[in-house]
Amino acid sequence: MTTSRRRDEVAAALAEVRGRIAEACKASGRAESEVTVVVVTKYFPASDVALVHGLGVRDVGENRDQEAEPKMARARELLAADGTHPDLTVHFVGQLQTNKARHVARYADVVHSVDRGRLVEALARGAEDAGRVLRVLLQVSLDGDTSRGGALPEELHRLADLVAAHPSLELKGLMAVAPLGADPDESFARLREVASGIRASHPGADWLSAGMSSDLEAAVRYGATHLRVGSAILGSRESLL
Ligand SMILES: *Cc1c(COP(=O)(O)O)cnc(C)c1O
Repeated sequence: MTTSRRRDEVAAALAEVRGRIAEACKASGRAESEVTVVVVTKYFPASDVALVHGLGVRDVGENRDQEAEPKMARARELLAADGTHPDLTVHFVGQLQTNKARHVARYADVVHSVDRGRLVEALARGAEDAGRVLRVLLQVSLDGDTSRGGALPEELHRLADLVAAHPSLELKGLMAVAPLGADPDESFARLREVASGIRASHPGADWLSAGMSSDLEAAVRYGATHLRVGSAILGSRESLL
């Protein structure tokens, strides 16, 4: 159930984030239409997914398979029960185990966290079995610490070619999380450079998923096309853990 207080709170926070993006776009001479906000709804309920849909959001992000699928199904039910067309683009943004990939390929529209060959193969098989084409971003590790997900920049060309070889996958671009404690401007400058190298051989891979609640301005400065924003819109997840 969505209370009017929750609706007002989320609407105000979303307007504030949209204002930050508008300003960042203006400062770097970019059109706002080049930037999509993916609202990361992890830990928040299906009613919040329906709520942000009502505020014009169509792109939502999740990071855990077991949570994402039932939540998105429930959100679609809530929207349909309201007479609203439940058009949602579901982005999977979290680290993904190979054994969950086939399942994720059934309901996600975009996977941002592809960082190894075995995961590419598993997603391709899953998408093929489901008769779908899955959009894929390769996650880059910008500090060489791959334990938090992401491939090393030198592995990306091989992975990009592998994705491109599968008809059930569509290579859309790159994704990164700024390393903890690093300067986001330096991180996203590096990401932009790596991305232009990949685009030289895969011109269609022109999405750049970068920037979260705290560093979205820096991401916009360096060409992000998709911002993954959670807490600045839905509030702190701390109380929900
Ligand atoms: C949770 C999460 C986000 C959103 O982070 P906020 O700081 O809440 O905006 C973005 N990207 C990924 C990969 C996440 O897991």
